[in-house]
Amino acid sequence: MDKETEEDRRDNNSDEEKRNVSPESSEVEDSEMERLRRYLIQKLRLVDLSTSNQSDQSQQRVLRELSLDGIVEYIKEKPDCKIITMAGAGISTSAGIPDFRSPSSGLYHKLDKYNLPYPQAIFELDFFTKNPEPFFTLARELLPEGFRPTMSHYFIRLLWEKGLLLRHYTQNIDTLERVAGLPPEKLVEAHGTFHTGRCLKCRAPYMLSWMKEKILEGMIPKCEECNEGVVKPDIVFFGEMLPERFQELADRDFVQADLLIIMGSSLVVQPFASLVDRVRTTCPRLLINNEKVGMQDRLSRFLGLRQGLVFDTKSTQGGRDIAWLGDCDTGCQLLADKLGWGDELRTLVQKEHDNLDVKNRNDN
Ligand SMILES: [Zn+2]
Repeated sequence: MDKETEEDRRDNNSDEEKRNVSPESSEVEDSEMERLRRYLIQKLRLVDLSTSNQSDQSQQRVLRELSLDGIVEYIKEKPDCKIITMAGAGISTSAGIPDFRSPSSGLYHKLDKYNLPYPQAIFELDFFTKNPEPFFTLARELLPEGFRPTMSHYFIRLLWEKGLLLRHYTQNIDTLERVAGLPPEKLVEAHGTFHTGRCLKCRAPYMLSWMKEKILEGMIPKCEECNEGVVKPDIVFFGEMLPERFQELADRDFVQADLLIIMGSSLVVQPFASLVDRVRTTCPRLLINNEKVGMQDRLSRFLGLRQGLVFDTKSTQGGRDIAWLGDCDTGCQLLADKLGWGDELRTLVQKEHDNLDVKNRNDN
């Protein structure tokens, strides 16, 4: 497309946009706003104009219906559908794992005796180096001891077994994806994991089973190589870099995805939250959560930036974002039912839970 037609098209679209955005404002104000919008986009290089929302509007409809049924139909019609799942604490709450980042979870009362300057201090490296005890007190409550993965975890495993899972990105450190049998290569633990740990002094690696034994005995795990350093589980503390694997795979995966399913995350912690913006504009995004989150804000909408989810769009092209509101397990079971995998999922959960119960009994 040559420059002039691109320009014309943009003008036409912006006229239409003006009417949609602010029907009551005058035309003079509108053209000023449009000029400002385009000035900001160009000066700030916020977005490549050729891929901003103007071109999105000319894209074809990706879902026949903006609903869970529309998603189901989309998956069924794409035998090689590449699905990325993203998950937060919401997929683990029914396993009984407390949301440890929330000071209201009650966990922090157990730390009263330590006189923390503020609750989050236990996840700061400086504080941990001086005083690791509060962290390990909390870790005792969080360690994956006897917790069983949820319906949501097994739904993700089922996606993998069906050959549809490109990757699972999790904010959770509880290792339940691993317990559910998801292979490590399909998993990105964006905020680290309790699965492994490292000596802060000599970097010697340790496994969960070793750390767990010490932590559950009320000890601070000390390195057996250098006899000096404290062994810190590989969970990402505030101010620490996310695992390299996160950056590498996110760059590669998201542009390839055909469908994004976001479960049980409030989409506020960065950079995890902004992963939703990294899929192609033709990639539908399904949110399964108790409430709508991660929505596009007014500034992004004004600037035509592709940031955030857009539910209930009025676009004639039908949009691509769907929110299914409720708890993750119910949402996953419903989705599995609609896909015709309902009984398979129920059987898988039952079988795996029985196996884990036997294993837990033998361990104790
Ligand atoms: Zn060491």
